[in-house]
Amino acid sequence: MFKVEVKSQQDEDISILIKVDNHSFNYLCDCGEAKNLSVKECQNINAIFISHTHIDHFVNFDTILRHQIGVGRKIVICGPRGIINQVQNRIKSYCWNLIEKDAITYEIREIHSTNKIVSATLKPPLWEQEEVKEIDTNHIFEEKDFNVKFEILNHKTDSICYLFEEKDKTKIKLKDDFKAGKWVKELKDAFDNGKDNLSINVNGQVYLSKDLFDMISVQKGQKVGVIMDHNADFDNHKKIKTLFSECDLAYIEAFYKDEDMEFAQKNYHSYASASGKLMKETKVKKAIPVHFSRKYSADDILELITQFEKAYEK
Ligand SMILES: [Zn+2]
Ligand SMILES: [Zn+2]
Repeated sequence: MFKVEVKSQQDEDISILIKVDNHSFNYLCDCGEAKNLSVKECQNINAIFISHTHIDHFVNFDTILRHQIGVGRKIVICGPRGIINQVQNRIKSYCWNLIEKDAITYEIREIHSTNKIVSATLKPPLWEQEEVKEIDTNHIFEEKDFNVKFEILNHKTDSICYLFEEKDKTKIKLKDDFKAGKWVKELKDAFDNGKDNLSINVNGQVYLSKDLFDMISVQKGQKVGVIMDHNADFDNHKKIKTLFSECDLAYIEAFYKDEDMEFAQKNYHSYASASGKLMKETKVKKAIPVHFSRKYSADDILELITQFEKAYEK
């Protein structure tokens, strides 16, 4: 379902692109510098998920904006408290006297708490905040086949981690002499909505829905997590363990080597073995460390990844 590509190289700031099977658009987590992100990929973005706006996570926004101008549709940007003003300020720092009115629309969703999201729309040429409203949802983003949940972590500022969750799929395996027909959809809908006693007409013969439920199975949706900068503390770990429990795939920051733990504490970051151990305790099926301090050489990063793997596999 989800195909994840880390678009930044090891010596660049973080940027992760998520593509979705049978879906024309893709999704970007953080806007660090990423030379591997193509113009076409920027144009096909449907939503951008920003963890926080430290420069290493937001510096490439202008380049992405540059490529997106002219797509003629709405693009959603999600992020922490303050993101509406920050995006608006970035855009307003350019001159827009020649832009077409319908070149692009940004809808920005600003996360204030787990149950308060404020959204605003920005449109050229004035880019004023319009349609400002509170949205009532526990999903920051929803599409037909998946939704995105979030949690707010402490990085001495809010840092949002995101969970992409494919919706479960109801499948049917026809038994005996049953032949497919429009009843299959009726039966799946009855199952999804807990309607046990619905009459289902199977090519002339009527059954109660519950008597056909043994042909139904549920295929669990894939879950992918992106967990950026956070302090390695009890509260953050508790939130991560809850949201990402048994997640199929997670990308997590491991900014420092274990021997630089005191820098991690000072800068409200995680470090290699803390992130590895956390992913193990969260029962993440595949965990990948990303986003390393720029002071490290390629050899340092290899060591860091080994420290992570050791703690994850132990
Ligand atoms: Zn940061
Ligand atoms: Zn960072």
